[in-house]
Amino acid sequence: MANKLIIIGSGPAGWSAAIYAARASLKPLVFEGPEPGGQLTTTTVIENFPGFPDGILGTELMDRCRTQAKKFGAEVISENVESVDFSVRPFKVMAKGQVYESNAVIIATGASARRLGLESEKALYGKGVSACATCDGFFFKGKKVIVVGGGDAAMEEANFLTRFADTVTIVHRRDMFTASKIMQDRVRNNPKIDVIWNAEVMEVLGVDAGHVTGVKLRDTKTGTMRDVAIDGVFAAIGHVPNTGMFAGKLDMDEKGYIKTAPGTSMTNVEGVFAAGDAQDSRYRQAVTAVGSGCMAYIDAGKYLNAMGDKR
Ligand code: NDP
Repeated sequence: MANKLIIIGSGPAGWSAAIYAARASLKPLVFEGPEPGGQLTTTTVIENFPGFPDGILGTELMDRCRTQAKKFGAEVISENVESVDFSVRPFKVMAKGQVYESNAVIIATGASARRLGLESEKALYGKGVSACATCDGFFFKGKKVIVVGGGDAAMEEANFLTRFADTVTIVHRRDMFTASKIMQDRVRNNPKIDVIWNAEVMEVLGVDAGHVTGVKLRDTKTGTMRDVAIDGVFAAIGHVPNTGMFAGKLDMDEKGYIKTAPGTSMTNVEGVFAAGDAQDSRYRQAVTAVGSGCMAYIDAGKYLNAMGDKR
Protein backbone atom coordinates (compact mmCIF):
# COMPACT_ATOMS: atom_id res chain seq x y z
CA MET A 1 0.00 0.00 0.00
CA ALA A 2 1.21 3.51 -0.76
CA ASN A 3 2.48 5.73 2.03
CA LYS A 4 0.21 8.57 2.97
CA LEU A 5 2.88 11.25 2.88
CA ILE A 6 6.46 11.59 1.72
CA ILE A 7 8.49 14.63 2.75
CA ILE A 8 11.59 15.40 0.69
CA GLY A 9 14.13 17.42 2.64
CA SER A 10 15.24 17.75 6.25
CA GLY A 11 15.71 21.45 6.98
CA PRO A 12 13.37 23.46 9.19
CA ALA A 13 10.50 23.21 6.67
CA GLY A 14 10.81 19.45 6.25
CA TRP A 15 11.06 18.75 9.98
CA SER A 16 8.21 21.05 10.84
CA ALA A 17 5.96 19.28 8.31
CA ALA A 18 7.20 15.93 9.63
CA ILE A 19 6.53 16.75 13.29
CA TYR A 20 2.99 17.89 12.57
CA ALA A 21 2.25 15.00 10.20
CA ALA A 22 3.73 12.35 12.49
CA ARG A 23 1.82 13.72 15.45
CA ALA A 24 -1.35 13.42 13.35
CA SER A 25 -0.50 9.73 12.75
CA LEU A 26 0.23 10.17 9.03
CA LYS A 27 3.52 8.23 9.46
CA PRO A 28 5.46 10.41 7.02
CA LEU A 29 8.57 9.14 5.29
CA VAL A 30 11.25 11.82 5.40
CA PHE A 31 14.12 11.72 2.89
CA GLU A 32 17.01 13.56 4.50
CA GLY A 33 18.83 14.31 1.25
CA PRO A 34 22.44 15.26 0.54
CA GLU A 35 22.74 17.89 3.28
CA PRO A 36 20.77 16.61 6.32
CA GLY A 37 19.51 19.57 8.32
CA GLY A 38 19.96 21.90 5.35
CA GLN A 39 21.55 25.33 5.38
CA LEU A 40 21.25 25.78 9.15
CA THR A 41 23.96 23.17 9.56
CA THR A 42 26.38 25.51 7.76
CA THR A 43 25.85 28.29 10.30
CA THR A 44 26.94 28.47 13.91
CA VAL A 45 24.73 30.00 16.57
CA ILE A 46 21.20 31.06 15.66
CA GLU A 47 20.21 33.96 17.84
CA ASN A 48 16.84 34.92 16.38
CA PHE A 49 14.93 31.65 16.65
CA PRO A 50 12.17 32.38 19.16
CA GLY A 51 12.46 30.42 22.38
CA PHE A 52 16.25 30.29 22.57
CA PRO A 53 17.31 33.49 24.37
CA ASP A 54 20.92 32.27 24.55
CA GLY A 55 20.96 31.11 20.92
CA ILE A 56 21.20 27.56 19.65
CA LEU A 57 23.61 25.89 17.24
CA GLY A 58 22.03 25.25 13.83
CA THR A 59 23.10 21.61 13.95
CA GLU A 60 21.60 21.16 17.40
CA LEU A 61 18.31 22.77 16.39
CA MET A 62 18.02 20.40 13.44
CA ASP A 63 19.00 17.37 15.55
CA ARG A 64 16.30 18.27 18.02
CA CYS A 65 13.71 18.59 15.25
CA ARG A 66 14.75 15.18 13.88
CA THR A 67 14.37 13.60 17.33
CA GLN A 68 10.98 15.25 17.77
CA ALA A 69 9.73 14.00 14.38
CA LYS A 70 10.96 10.46 15.07
CA LYS A 71 9.41 10.50 18.54
CA PHE A 72 5.99 10.93 16.97
CA GLY A 73 6.58 8.19 14.39
CA ALA A 74 8.20 9.79 11.34
CA GLU A 75 10.34 7.34 9.41
CA VAL A 76 13.63 8.91 8.38
CA ILE A 77 15.48 7.66 5.31
CA SER A 78 19.04 8.90 4.91
CA GLU A 79 19.01 8.85 1.13
CA ASN A 80 18.87 11.32 -1.71
CA VAL A 81 15.76 11.29 -3.83
CA GLU A 82 16.95 10.79 -7.40
CA SER A 83 13.73 11.39 -9.30
CA VAL A 84 9.98 11.70 -8.90
CA ASP A 85 6.98 10.84 -11.02
CA PHE A 86 4.00 13.08 -10.30
CA SER A 87 2.15 12.01 -13.46
CA VAL A 88 0.83 8.83 -11.82
CA ARG A 89 -1.24 8.14 -8.68
CA PRO A 90 0.02 7.23 -6.20
CA PHE A 91 3.07 9.42 -6.81
CA LYS A 92 6.43 7.68 -7.21
CA VAL A 93 9.61 8.77 -5.48
CA MET A 94 12.84 7.04 -6.51
CA ALA A 95 15.80 6.77 -4.13
CA LYS A 96 18.79 4.44 -4.28
CA GLY A 97 17.18 2.13 -6.82
CA GLN A 98 13.97 1.78 -4.80
CA VAL A 99 10.55 3.12 -5.67
CA TYR A 100 8.46 4.61 -2.87
CA GLU A 101 4.78 5.35 -3.44
CA SER A 102 2.81 8.06 -1.75
CA ASN A 103 -0.60 9.73 -1.94
CA ALA A 104 0.84 13.16 -1.09
CA VAL A 105 4.31 14.71 -1.27
CA ILE A 106 5.76 17.73 0.50
CA ILE A 107 8.84 19.21 -1.16
CA ALA A 108 11.18 20.90 1.31
CA THR A 109 14.47 20.61 -0.54
CA GLY A 110 15.64 24.13 0.34
CA ALA A 111 18.30 26.14 -1.42
CA SER A 112 22.09 26.09 -1.70
CA ALA A 113 24.72 28.76 -1.94
CA ARG A 114 25.31 29.92 -5.51
CA ARG A 115 28.77 29.22 -6.95
CA LEU A 116 30.80 31.43 -9.27
CA GLY A 117 30.74 28.64 -11.83
CA LEU A 118 34.47 28.50 -12.53
CA GLU A 119 36.45 25.29 -13.11
CA SER A 120 39.23 26.60 -10.85
CA GLU A 121 36.66 27.35 -8.13
CA LYS A 122 35.49 23.74 -8.30
CA ALA A 123 39.06 22.41 -8.21
CA LEU A 124 39.93 24.50 -5.15
CA TYR A 125 36.68 24.07 -3.23
CA GLY A 126 37.62 23.29 0.37
CA LYS A 127 41.22 24.28 -0.44
CA GLY A 128 40.74 27.97 0.13
CA VAL A 129 37.41 28.42 -1.69
CA SER A 130 34.31 28.42 0.48
CA ALA A 131 30.72 29.63 0.52
CA CYS A 132 30.42 29.70 4.29
CA ALA A 133 32.46 32.06 6.46
CA THR A 134 30.99 30.73 9.68
CA CYS A 135 32.05 27.19 8.73
CA ASP A 136 35.52 27.92 7.37
CA GLY A 137 36.58 31.37 8.62
CA PHE A 138 38.61 29.82 11.41
CA PHE A 139 41.07 28.38 8.87
CA PHE A 140 42.07 31.86 7.72
CA LYS A 141 43.68 33.22 10.87
CA GLY A 142 46.21 35.86 9.91
CA LYS A 143 45.50 35.42 6.18
CA LYS A 144 44.16 37.55 3.33
CA VAL A 145 40.78 36.71 1.90
CA ILE A 146 38.26 38.11 -0.56
CA VAL A 147 34.49 38.00 -0.33
CA VAL A 148 32.63 38.14 -3.63
CA GLY A 149 29.22 39.86 -3.71
CA GLY A 150 27.49 43.10 -2.82
CA GLY A 151 24.39 42.05 -0.86
CA ASP A 152 23.74 41.66 2.86
CA ALA A 153 25.32 38.22 2.92
CA ALA A 154 28.60 39.56 1.51
CA MET A 155 28.67 42.34 4.14
CA GLU A 156 27.93 39.88 6.92
CA GLU A 157 30.54 37.37 5.75
CA ALA A 158 33.17 40.11 5.34
CA ASN A 159 32.58 41.45 8.84
CA PHE A 160 32.62 37.99 10.34
CA LEU A 161 35.86 37.06 8.57
CA THR A 162 37.70 40.02 10.12
CA ARG A 163 37.64 38.04 13.37
CA PHE A 164 40.20 35.75 11.78
CA ALA A 165 41.73 37.18 8.62
CA ASP A 166 44.24 40.05 8.56
CA THR A 167 42.52 41.70 5.63
CA VAL A 168 39.21 41.12 3.92
CA THR A 169 38.61 42.55 0.45
CA ILE A 170 35.10 42.64 -0.94
CA VAL A 171 35.11 42.16 -4.70
CA HIS A 172 31.92 43.42 -6.29
CA ARG A 173 31.02 43.56 -9.96
CA ARG A 174 29.24 46.92 -9.67
CA ASP A 175 30.13 50.35 -8.27
CA MET A 176 27.61 50.17 -5.43
CA PHE A 177 26.30 47.56 -3.02
CA THR A 178 22.72 46.36 -2.83
CA ALA A 179 23.11 45.55 0.88
CA SER A 180 21.04 47.40 3.49
CA LYS A 181 22.48 50.65 4.86
CA ILE A 182 23.20 49.27 8.30
CA MET A 183 25.21 46.37 6.85
CA GLN A 184 27.11 48.71 4.50
CA ASP A 185 27.91 51.00 7.43
CA ARG A 186 29.37 48.13 9.40
CA VAL A 187 31.65 47.32 6.49
CA ARG A 188 32.65 50.96 6.03
CA ASN A 189 33.49 51.28 9.71
CA ASN A 190 35.59 48.13 9.80
CA PRO A 191 39.25 49.07 9.21
CA LYS A 192 40.16 45.53 8.15
CA ILE A 193 37.83 45.61 5.13
CA ASP A 194 38.51 47.22 1.77
CA VAL A 195 36.58 47.00 -1.49
CA ILE A 196 37.49 46.40 -5.11
CA TRP A 197 34.64 47.82 -7.20
CA ASN A 198 33.65 46.84 -10.73
CA ALA A 199 35.57 43.59 -10.67
CA GLU A 200 34.69 40.07 -11.66
CA VAL A 201 36.58 36.94 -10.61
CA MET A 202 37.65 35.22 -13.83
CA GLU A 203 39.80 32.52 -12.25
CA VAL A 204 40.89 31.31 -8.84
CA LEU A 205 44.65 30.84 -8.90
CA GLY A 206 46.53 28.01 -7.24
CA VAL A 207 45.20 24.85 -8.89
CA ASP A 208 48.75 23.53 -9.42
CA ALA A 209 49.76 24.44 -5.87
CA GLY A 210 46.67 22.63 -4.53
CA HIS A 211 45.49 25.67 -2.57
CA VAL A 212 44.30 29.20 -3.32
CA THR A 213 47.14 31.62 -4.05
CA GLY A 214 45.16 34.45 -5.66
CA VAL A 215 42.45 35.49 -8.07
CA LYS A 216 42.44 36.84 -11.59
CA LEU A 217 40.14 39.85 -11.73
CA ARG A 218 38.62 41.59 -14.73
CA ASP A 219 37.65 45.24 -14.46
CA THR A 220 34.05 45.32 -15.69
CA LYS A 221 34.42 48.90 -16.95
CA THR A 222 37.78 48.71 -18.75
CA GLY A 223 38.20 44.98 -19.33
CA THR A 224 41.68 45.14 -17.76
CA MET A 225 42.89 41.95 -16.09
CA ARG A 226 45.01 41.73 -12.98
CA ASP A 227 46.10 39.10 -10.47
CA VAL A 228 45.61 39.68 -6.76
CA ALA A 229 47.45 37.47 -4.25
CA ILE A 230 45.14 36.13 -1.53
CA ASP A 231 44.67 32.95 0.52
CA GLY A 232 40.92 32.48 0.50
CA VAL A 233 37.82 33.15 -1.62
CA PHE A 234 34.36 33.35 -0.08
CA ALA A 235 31.46 33.61 -2.52
CA ALA A 236 28.40 35.30 -1.02
CA ILE A 237 26.42 35.72 -4.21
CA GLY A 238 22.99 34.47 -3.29
CA HIS A 239 21.30 31.12 -3.37
CA VAL A 240 19.71 28.74 -5.84
CA PRO A 241 16.73 26.56 -4.96
CA ASN A 242 17.33 22.79 -4.97
CA THR A 243 14.52 22.07 -7.38
CA GLY A 244 16.32 20.71 -10.46
CA MET A 245 14.65 17.31 -10.22
CA PHE A 246 11.20 18.91 -10.43
CA ALA A 247 11.91 20.84 -13.63
CA GLY A 248 9.18 20.19 -16.17
CA LYS A 249 7.09 18.45 -13.49
CA LEU A 250 5.99 21.46 -11.44
CA ASP A 251 5.46 25.12 -12.29
CA MET A 252 8.45 27.25 -11.27
CA ASP A 253 9.46 30.87 -11.59
CA GLU A 254 12.35 31.96 -13.81
CA LYS A 255 14.83 31.39 -10.94
CA GLY A 256 13.66 27.83 -10.29
CA TYR A 257 11.57 28.49 -7.17
CA ILE A 258 8.49 26.27 -7.08
CA LYS A 259 5.29 28.24 -7.56
CA THR A 260 2.63 27.81 -4.90
CA ALA A 261 -0.91 29.17 -4.95
CA PRO A 262 -0.85 32.48 -3.01
CA GLY A 263 -1.17 31.99 0.73
CA THR A 264 -0.91 28.18 0.47
CA SER A 265 1.69 25.46 -0.09
CA MET A 266 -0.17 23.99 -3.09
CA THR A 267 1.78 23.48 -6.29
CA ASN A 268 0.11 23.13 -9.67
CA VAL A 269 -0.05 19.34 -9.15
CA GLU A 270 -2.85 18.37 -6.79
CA GLY A 271 -1.38 16.44 -3.85
CA VAL A 272 2.11 17.93 -4.19
CA PHE A 273 2.98 20.71 -1.76
CA ALA A 274 6.08 22.85 -1.35
CA ALA A 275 7.53 24.53 1.74
CA GLY A 276 10.58 26.51 2.82
CA ASP A 277 13.30 27.94 0.60
CA ALA A 278 12.44 25.68 -2.36
CA GLN A 279 9.44 27.98 -2.90
CA ASP A 280 10.47 31.15 -1.06
CA SER A 281 13.00 33.55 -2.51
CA ARG A 282 11.81 36.43 -0.35
CA TYR A 283 11.93 35.59 3.36
CA ARG A 284 14.32 32.61 3.52
CA GLN A 285 14.41 32.40 7.31
CA ALA A 286 14.45 29.32 9.52
CA VAL A 287 11.35 30.62 11.25
CA THR A 288 9.42 31.26 8.04
CA ALA A 289 10.49 27.83 6.73
CA VAL A 290 9.11 26.25 9.91
CA GLY A 291 5.84 28.12 9.36
CA SER A 292 5.54 27.06 5.75
CA GLY A 293 6.32 23.44 6.69
CA CYS A 294 3.32 23.59 9.00
CA MET A 295 1.20 25.08 6.21
CA ALA A 296 2.23 22.23 3.91
CA TYR A 297 1.24 19.67 6.52
CA ILE A 298 -2.17 21.31 6.95
CA ASP A 299 -2.73 21.46 3.18
CA ALA A 300 -1.53 17.87 2.70
CA GLY A 301 -3.62 16.65 5.64
CA LYS A 302 -6.78 18.24 4.20
CA TYR A 303 -5.99 16.80 0.78
CA LEU A 304 -5.52 13.30 2.23
CA ASN A 305 -8.75 13.58 4.23
CA ALA A 306 -10.64 14.64 1.12
CA MET A 307 -9.10 11.69 -0.77
CA GLY A 308 -10.24 9.35 1.98
CA ASP A 309 -13.76 10.80 1.86
CA LYS A 310 -13.96 10.16 -1.88
CA ARG A 311 -13.08 6.48 -1.53
P1 NDP B 1 21.49 39.04 -2.80
O1 NDP B 1 20.72 38.46 -3.93
O2 NDP B 1 20.91 40.13 -1.99
O3 NDP B 1 22.90 39.56 -3.35
C1 NDP B 1 23.68 38.79 -4.20
C2 NDP B 1 24.92 39.60 -4.53
O4 NDP B 1 25.80 38.76 -5.26
C3 NDP B 1 24.63 40.81 -5.40
O5 NDP B 1 25.51 41.83 -5.03
C4 NDP B 1 24.95 40.29 -6.80
O6 NDP B 1 25.43 41.30 -7.65
C5 NDP B 1 26.09 39.35 -6.51
N1 NDP B 1 26.20 38.28 -7.51
C6 NDP B 1 25.24 37.41 -7.91
N2 NDP B 1 25.74 36.53 -8.80
C7 NDP B 1 27.04 36.85 -8.97
C8 NDP B 1 28.10 36.31 -9.74
N3 NDP B 1 27.91 35.25 -10.52
N4 NDP B 1 29.30 36.90 -9.65
C9 NDP B 1 29.51 37.97 -8.85
N5 NDP B 1 28.56 38.52 -8.09
C10 NDP B 1 27.34 37.97 -8.14
O7 NDP B 1 21.86 37.77 -1.90
P2 NDP B 1 22.31 37.70 -0.37
O8 NDP B 1 22.67 36.28 -0.17
O9 NDP B 1 23.29 38.74 -0.05
O10 NDP B 1 20.97 38.02 0.45
C11 NDP B 1 19.81 37.24 0.23
C12 NDP B 1 18.72 37.69 1.20
O11 NDP B 1 19.07 37.39 2.54
C13 NDP B 1 18.47 39.19 1.14
O12 NDP B 1 17.11 39.42 1.29
C14 NDP B 1 19.24 39.71 2.33
O13 NDP B 1 18.72 40.92 2.81
C15 NDP B 1 19.08 38.56 3.33
N6 NDP B 1 20.21 38.55 4.27
C16 NDP B 1 20.14 39.33 5.39
C17 NDP B 1 21.17 39.38 6.30
C18 NDP B 1 21.05 40.25 7.48
O14 NDP B 1 20.29 41.20 7.45
N7 NDP B 1 21.77 39.97 8.55
C19 NDP B 1 22.40 38.60 6.09
C20 NDP B 1 22.39 37.83 4.87
C21 NDP B 1 21.35 37.83 4.01
P3 NDP B 1 24.49 42.00 -8.73
O15 NDP B 1 23.72 43.03 -7.98
O16 NDP B 1 25.44 42.52 -9.72
O17 NDP B 1 23.59 40.92 -9.31
